[in-house]
Amino acid sequence: MGETEQDILLASLLLLGAALQYLLGGPWLLVVGAVAVGIRVNFSRDDRRGIVATAIACVLWIALHTSVTSMLTRLQVAIELGAFSAFVVVFWVARQINRERLLADETQLEDARKGGADMQAKLRQLRRDSEVMVWESEELTRLFGVTRSVGEVIREEEIVNVIRETAQAYLKLPAYVLLLARDEAIRVRAQTGFDDDTLADAAFPPGGGTLAAWFLRQREPVLVDDVSEDPRFAGAMFPYRSLVMLPMLVRDEPVGALVALDGHQRSFTRQDYTRAGILAKQLSLGIGKTLLYGQIEELSITDGLTKLYRHRHFQERFEIELERARRYSRPLSLLMGDLDQFKQFNDAYGHLEGDDVLKHVSRAMEANFQRPAILARYGGEEFAVLLPDTSRERAAELAEKFRAALEAAPMTAAPLAATPSSAPGPRPAVTMSIGVAAFPEDAQTRRDLIARADLALYRSKDAGRNRVTIFDAAWQNAPSG
Ligand code: GH3
Ligand code: MG
Ligand code: MG
Repeated sequence: MGETEQDILLASLLLLGAALQYLLGGPWLLVVGAVAVGIRVNFSRDDRRGIVATAIACVLWIALHTSVTSMLTRLQVAIELGAFSAFVVVFWVARQINRERLLADETQLEDARKGGADMQAKLRQLRRDSEVMVWESEELTRLFGVTRSVGEVIREEEIVNVIRETAQAYLKLPAYVLLLARDEAIRVRAQTGFDDDTLADAAFPPGGGTLAAWFLRQREPVLVDDVSEDPRFAGAMFPYRSLVMLPMLVRDEPVGALVALDGHQRSFTRQDYTRAGILAKQLSLGIGKTLLYGQIEELSITDGLTKLYRHRHFQERFEIELERARRYSRPLSLLMGDLDQFKQFNDAYGHLEGDDVLKHVSRAMEANFQRPAILARYGGEEFAVLLPDTSRERAAELAEKFRAALEAAPMTAAPLAATPSSAPGPRPAVTMSIGVAAFPEDAQTRRDLIARADLALYRSKDAGRNRVTIFDAAWQNAPSG
């Protein structure tokens, strides 16, 4: 039976009691009603007790009423009845309102509880998601860092440094080897985790059966869970258990490999493998760029620092000029020059000042040797001048004029040891030792001409530097002094 039906039953019983009182007279209904309602409230969970209690009270009252003489008038009974009915109605309405409110509150509370649990689950998921996102964004930042560094490299040393940095700071590899294929050999360009120095500058033949050669043949990343169980590594002396290898490909051709190593088996995951693939592509781009830059540099005619011809172009021009001299029976002279004590200068003033000297010397050469002279930076601080249609004696004169001009040319520089406040002072004179040899009298071929001009240059050095020496055929027969 529901709460409402219980209350209706209670009210009906009370009304029945009231009707009986009205018919028979007496003050008892109020007492019985109060007792019945009290019981109903106290035992609201067990309605039957309330009903029984009410019924008993009514029976008791009827018994008492019939045995005791009525003292109340019927009017009194009517007032009692009215008061009691009002009491019951007010009580019932209040209770009903209260109960509805309670019910609504409970529903709200339950909803809130459910909502709270949902929110907490969502919050946990959000936290997990945000942790993943933070990791991914950090990963992207790191990858972006690598990409940016790769974008900046142009020379091989630079990409080697980027790869070294990537292996150590980004991948945090305990051990790795970087192999690059160069000049017909596979060279170890960086490594860590190997105790002995045998690997430091090791080179392997590209076609051989070495592990290095095998790595350089791979076009996809390689993941090895356990080297000792992998037939590809059978018999290899390998102090590591697992590895992941990133192949470096340039235009789909392997040019290098970064091999990450670990002493435990299964240290690298599929995720590492995927990451390795992305990284390998980035780093390969960098290697490709340095290769291209090297080729461009090799192919470019003039030297970036001095703007004079490079060695290679000089040799080509030399061949053409020699052919012309032969055909038209014209003389062709060659000057070979080397700066004096330049290492000392670098040590005292620094390499940047040294570079300035090289530029300064080049400008002095251009000012002194007019067309059709061909000027070249032959090596680091070695220069060559080819003088078409110029006799050996005339070439020696021009060389001497230039030597003197260079010695006298003013240039300022601050020594490295100077205090920051000290202004650059006059620099010690830059001087050059020069050797001269000429076609046709000293030599017939390019190679011989260069060798003889070189010999004359060393004579200049031996004789105390800062001078011009003409090649002398007599030296061939006598020991140099
Ligand atoms: P010597 O009089 O016997 O020639 O003495 P040296 O010190 O000049 O000896 P050498 O010719 O062997 O020295 C070469 C030096 O030139 C070594 C190197 O530091 C310097 N050098 C070579 N190329 C460059 C360059 O591009 N820039 C600078 N600053 N120095 C260079
Ligand atoms: Mg030199
Ligand atoms: Mg020198």
